[in-house]
Amino acid sequence: MPERPSKRIYFDHGATTRVIPEVVEAMAPYVSEKYGNASSIHSFGREARTAVDDSRARIAALIGAGPSEIVFTSSGTESDNLAIKGVALHESRGKGHLVTTEIEHSAVLEPCAYLKSRGFEVTRLPVSKEGFVDLGDVEAAIRDDTILVSVMMANSEIGTIQPVREIGKMAHSRGALFHTDAVQAAGKMTIDVDRDNIDLLSLSSHKFHGPKGVGALYVRKGTKVEPLLHGGGHEGKLRSSTENVPGIVGFGKAAEVAQRDMPETAERMRHLRDRIIKTVPETIPDAYLNGHPTNRLVNNAHHRFDFIEGEGLVLLLDMSGIAASTGSACSTGSLEPSPVLLALGLTHEQAHGSLRVTLGRENNEEEVGYLLEVLPGIVSKLREMSPFSKDRPKCGREGGCSVQ
Ligand SMILES: *Cc1c(COP(=O)(O)O)cnc(C)c1O
Repeated sequence: MPERPSKRIYFDHGATTRVIPEVVEAMAPYVSEKYGNASSIHSFGREARTAVDDSRARIAALIGAGPSEIVFTSSGTESDNLAIKGVALHESRGKGHLVTTEIEHSAVLEPCAYLKSRGFEVTRLPVSKEGFVDLGDVEAAIRDDTILVSVMMANSEIGTIQPVREIGKMAHSRGALFHTDAVQAAGKMTIDVDRDNIDLLSLSSHKFHGPKGVGALYVRKGTKVEPLLHGGGHEGKLRSSTENVPGIVGFGKAAEVAQRDMPETAERMRHLRDRIIKTVPETIPDAYLNGHPTNRLVNNAHHRFDFIEGEGLVLLLDMSGIAASTGSACSTGSLEPSPVLLALGLTHEQAHGSLRVTLGRENNEEEVGYLLEVLPGIVSKLREMSPFSKDRPKCGREGGCSVQ
């Protein structure tokens, strides 16, 4: 086994990212001396208001929107909820149809399920083996009473990038609104809400090196959304509550840095990703890529390894100083296989044996080299212990080798 590096290696940027020093520095004054409430009219308040509006402009710039179309929220989850429940509650008094997919984040699927329990109808579109929704399916699913189509821009687990521009166009041609969860995509690919026919778009700061607990929803000018929080009428009456000024400042700085550095960081991550995607199946038997080889997020490499459990993989990698994930962090604690992987048509066993490596701007060749060096050994060690392994007798009821 190669020697464990002195510094831990982080390959779980789909779960969250490090707040980079530039962002910490921008936030610092707003955590201490610049503590005004952005609604106050005195100098403390005006200072906070200016900072919030500067951030708003930076976030708008990242997605080709106008500053007045950005609503700050507490998270990607809140943005998804505001978009979906907000449109449904406004558009139709308890009736209407929504279209989404089987592979959305739970922050989209759960509000849809909630609306269904309250009388709305929801169509969940299947995806192909590589994780794409079929445009013909989208077209067929949209009805006269469809109020909203919600399809994520890029998948959090397998990185698949959906044809949002065409989906948005189809939604509009039938009079429906189009929402996309761009939490994973933002900062890693160019987004233009006009070009891509988007009415509502969710963002989360902590997925691109900003602080946790702050997000935004883009709401196209003129789009009617019912607020979920009622109170002082902040954020154009869409999201009452005193603005999280330090969080918003950090979010804005992170957006600025992401946009400034995107050409370079995206290229570097793409190169590292492709090295992983090429090397893993070459060096490990029965290893397969999940998702599409190129039409995927620049930072996402996702493989499945027959005969093993992803949890074991993650734990042994952790013991080697590498943080990665299996399934999705959002369903941690659950031993159910990832619904996204099942939607690709994988069996439970195949879905269980998956590993997600999500790169970040700070990862380098050396770290990827170390991963590629230790992974084959870890996989074969797990296979030696696995009751599923083809090298071992099948595990029967009396075999006494129960799976933990
Ligand atoms: C992380 C994530 C969310 C949730 O964002 P939070 O800010 O953690 O609530 C929503 N959608 C996608 C695609 C995500 O990856």
